[in-house]
Amino acid sequence: MLKEISIGLGLASVISMALMGYDVTPFLFFVAAGGGLYYIARMRGMVNANNFESPAGAGRYEISFSDIGGQFSAIHELREALDFIKNHQVIQSLGIRPLKGILLTGPPGTGKTLMAKAAANYTDAAFIAASGSEFIEMYAGVGAQRVRKLFQSAREMAPRQGKNYALVFIDEVEILGGKRGQTTSHLEYDQTLNQLLVEIDGIKIDDRVRVLLVAATNRADMLDPALLRPGRFDRIVRVDLPDKEGRLEILKIHTRNKPLAEDVRLEIIARETFGFSGAHLESLANEAAILAMREKAKEIKQHHFNESIDKVMMGGKLDKRPSEGEMKRIAVHEVGHALISEKIRAGSVSALTITPRGDALGYMRQTPEDDTYLYTKDYLEDQIAIILAGAAAEETILGNYSTGSANDFEQAVRMAETMLRTGMSDLGVVCLDSLPRDLKHNTLTSIMRMQEERVKNHISSSQHIFDVMTEILLENEKISGEQFRKILREHVA
Ligand code: ATP
Repeated sequence: MLKEISIGLGLASVISMALMGYDVTPFLFFVAAGGGLYYIARMRGMVNANNFESPAGAGRYEISFSDIGGQFSAIHELREALDFIKNHQVIQSLGIRPLKGILLTGPPGTGKTLMAKAAANYTDAAFIAASGSEFIEMYAGVGAQRVRKLFQSAREMAPRQGKNYALVFIDEVEILGGKRGQTTSHLEYDQTLNQLLVEIDGIKIDDRVRVLLVAATNRADMLDPALLRPGRFDRIVRVDLPDKEGRLEILKIHTRNKPLAEDVRLEIIARETFGFSGAHLESLANEAAILAMREKAKEIKQHHFNESIDKVMMGGKLDKRPSEGEMKRIAVHEVGHALISEKIRAGSVSALTITPRGDALGYMRQTPEDDTYLYTKDYLEDQIAIILAGAAAEETILGNYSTGSANDFEQAVRMAETMLRTGMSDLGVVCLDSLPRDLKHNTLTSIMRMQEERVKNHISSSQHIFDVMTEILLENEKISGEQFRKILREHVA
């Protein structure tokens, strides 16, 4: 950016000098000569060429598969492919062509880079890493030059480390290996990808240093088909978000070096963190330790973990402090959500708070019963009821509702749309494209009205609970699920 601004300013000065009558020819000559030299230097990789042997990109890594949690199938598949490489004599004797590339696909933070490092360790290979974005330049030919240099560095590094294998890891490979002809400066992109294909095709079983390419992407759909054809990335390994057991394994890995208090239940944390990646869980364990340090505690307690779940889910606490009236409204809103959640599924409230975090002024966190991948009609209706309960509580208890419910309404509409799309509405299975707008609107409204009525009836008959809960919430800012249920038991006759 700075470079572009400087070039713009330089050009503007030269033009104004020319307009003022100065002779700018010598200046232009020097700029042209300098630019030419700079371009040649870049082409030769002398200026700003990636030093792939930098400590961040290369070296010895001691990560092993036992440091990776919740990826049993992916590790199994990857290991099988690596065994194929390790037993190269057998495959050579059978005339099997070597495995050249392994593609790891999956959401961010699930451990793809860790898997590549563990693969290098497992095969006792020199490890060299680069990211797809490092190859993309506005100067034609530079990306291709960097790809060549990356593979060459790998071949040189392995003997220096006394190894027969080199593992080249390219993260965000979709940037460098996207479908050809789709970008504006496609000549440069195409040349870079072509060079990668050339390097992959050049890998041979009898090379002095056997190179294996491992690449990672969150967008396998964007890759050029040439990369995915047999003989290039021969193995595609899916690295998914961990399930409950997987999350527990990852939490155990990231709390290995941390003193945990007796009350810590990693199983509960694993249950409450559906949708978290390994990176989220690592951050959660780290945040819990930081909170313990701030409290000068010697051990990390369960409440530190609970607080750090909120932080990782919702963002850090905000300094903004709503007025007293607003705090009361937020409390009523959150108690509304919690009350209906607990009524629909006893034990489902994990915590409610009126501390502003991220985009939310307050929130109620539910404990998922189990990891859920499919939703029934009852489940979606119940969730719509819980979502609408915040606004319904404001209206019933305070007489009107506020703009604070806008996000809730959007979420409720999305769920109602899911019901319509999946044939769960009164219309049955429909073709959404040919559905008249009015009919769609009326159906969505009727789904939501029904849940609103259901919720309002319950809230009207529980006004005294709101008085008690909002008072406690205003005093403590937070109520845990257990506390909430205890107060409910005490106040529901
Ligand atoms: P991206 O797609 O964003 O590059 P990635 O899938 O390569 O992400 P990593 O860089 O491997 O993710 O993971 C980031 C960090 O998250 C790791 O250093 C580790 O601390 C933690 N982590 C991620 N997945 C796991 C896992 N399965 N087991 C243990 N730790 C994990």
